[in-house]
Amino acid sequence: MNPWKGPHGRCIGARIRLRALLLVMLVAVLARPPAAYAQTAPPVRIGVLAFLGAEVAESIWSPLVTHLEASMPERRVVLTYYDVDGLRQAVQRRAVDFIITNSGQYAALESEFGVSRIATLESPGVPSPSQAIGSAVIARADRRDLNALSDLRGKRVAAVGEDAFGGFQVAWREFRRQGVEPEDFARLDFLGFPMQRIVTAVASGQADAGVVRACLLEELARDGALRLADFKVLSPRRVEGFACGLSSELYPDWPIATLPHTDLRLAKAVATALLSMPASSKGYAWTVPADYRTVHDLFRDLQIGPYAYLRETTLQALARRYWPFLLFFFAVLAGWIVHTVRVEQQVHARTAALREALAQRDAAEAGMRAHQEQFDHLSRLSILGELSGTLAHELNQPLAAIANYAQSLVRRLDSGRYTPENLAEASREIAAQAERAGGIVHRIRAFARKRVAVRERRPLADLVREAAALFGGMLPNAPRIGIADRLPPGAQVEADTLQIEQVLLNLLKNAADAMQDLPPDARVIDVALEREARNYRIAVRDHGAGLAPASTRHLFEPFFTTKPDGMGLGLSICKTIVEAHGGRLWAEANAGAPGMTFIFTLPADDLIP
Ligand code: ADP
Repeated sequence: MNPWKGPHGRCIGARIRLRALLLVMLVAVLARPPAAYAQTAPPVRIGVLAFLGAEVAESIWSPLVTHLEASMPERRVVLTYYDVDGLRQAVQRRAVDFIITNSGQYAALESEFGVSRIATLESPGVPSPSQAIGSAVIARADRRDLNALSDLRGKRVAAVGEDAFGGFQVAWREFRRQGVEPEDFARLDFLGFPMQRIVTAVASGQADAGVVRACLLEELARDGALRLADFKVLSPRRVEGFACGLSSELYPDWPIATLPHTDLRLAKAVATALLSMPASSKGYAWTVPADYRTVHDLFRDLQIGPYAYLRETTLQALARRYWPFLLFFFAVLAGWIVHTVRVEQQVHARTAALREALAQRDAAEAGMRAHQEQFDHLSRLSILGELSGTLAHELNQPLAAIANYAQSLVRRLDSGRYTPENLAEASREIAAQAERAGGIVHRIRAFARKRVAVRERRPLADLVREAAALFGGMLPNAPRIGIADRLPPGAQVEADTLQIEQVLLNLLKNAADAMQDLPPDARVIDVALEREARNYRIAVRDHGAGLAPASTRHLFEPFFTTKPDGMGLGLSICKTIVEAHGGRLWAEANAGAPGMTFIFTLPADDLIP
């Protein structure tokens, strides 16, 4: 620290105060309006860091009081002396309006409480107010083993205190720059103020080296307390304009600072008074505020003071610092976990419900399939029943032919006109007719057989031709069936062929029924096959009486029939079958001609996945 000593001590301040008092009394005696402000205005409270005790500080700072009171006669100036902790508490309690402290504490209070410098002390013998405070790390001159700061590894080092700015922290930064940490010393003793203790410890060999503020050695030597030649400064530096031995870089001088609550007009008055204050006999004065960023840099490097949190890397420290974020984070995490568990439970519950529903649906579908198969079987039997009369007739033809050939053979044998050629021809005919009858029976049996639905790939045209042949074989006077095959070559469907044949037989039989009353020549059914977009289209057209539009709406309803012996199930079954194959079945009245056309579609095989 650079003490500021006034030229006249306390007596000037006292004299000025006395004069002011006399003046006030005189004014009162003359019954003029009193200068009420001087008595009622609160005092200007300045807190001063004084680690050497109030008495020493009083001698240093009282000229400042004198000057301020002279500059602001209406205000009283009260200096209060504190140690480092006391001054901090005073700032916290707003017990002072201004503080004068070392650069280190100023930077800390600036970060913590927002104190703001208004002037910086200007000391003699330093390059500038920004380069005024430094440390000297001293050792006895006869210690040849100690020259640089890095030589102190494993040595005993003394300093005033961990919080001392020039007395330790400034040197600490230099130790670190040279790769030595306080832990690397054999011992680090903090001996407290006054700083001469450090010098004494070094001189007596109690410590190998000591940290003191720069210029202390020179001041003590000037006072005759020691011989400069007995000591040396480790890692000495030369700074232009700085006359003392130095081991560190230089930092700004002491500032005077306002607190956030300090009245701005008062701050301006004090700043103006300080800047206009003449230099003391020893050359001390106040100047514009210096830049204290270098002090912040030091704290940041050492991770102390306002930057102490940088060393707090433990979980506890992080928790202390970031607890609102952590609280929020854990709250979100807990919420998320609760939400996830709930969603998981819901998913489980819904999956179970869904599985049950699917099982029920599968069971229902299986039941429906069984019913459908049963129903299909019955409907086929019903078609056969309806066709049975005509079947007998159909079978009669080959049987009659067989009987004919057999009888003619018998006759030829009886009449002696029997030749082996006759026998061979009759036998061939009999065999052919028997085969024809067998074919009819076989197809009927295949159609009537109870079976499980099977899908296979078949050319659509073949299916239609087979159904037409079966139909022709079943009816005695079956209408002519014309098949117009406009399908692309090789057009196939994937279908239950028996079911599709059933649909075709139903449509053909209905067409034949509708044309019952027409003369045989006019009884023609046209079946047209073509490709339509993604489907194949099968249209069965008759020339019958058609149906009244009112009835058309009910065509596909079960048990709708206009026939005396009809069951009214054929078309509804056909619709079910076609839709189960992914197609559609509908009816249209022939445009401009009698009769109806029943059309159904089936997906083209190349589109079946
Ligand atoms: P069913 O033949 O036993 O009556 P369907 O379901 O096959 O049962 O037919 C229902 C009704 O639809 C028939 O009774 C008839 O009135 C009508 N129908 C079906 N096809 C034709 C058609 N080609 N022309 C006119 N009416 C028809």
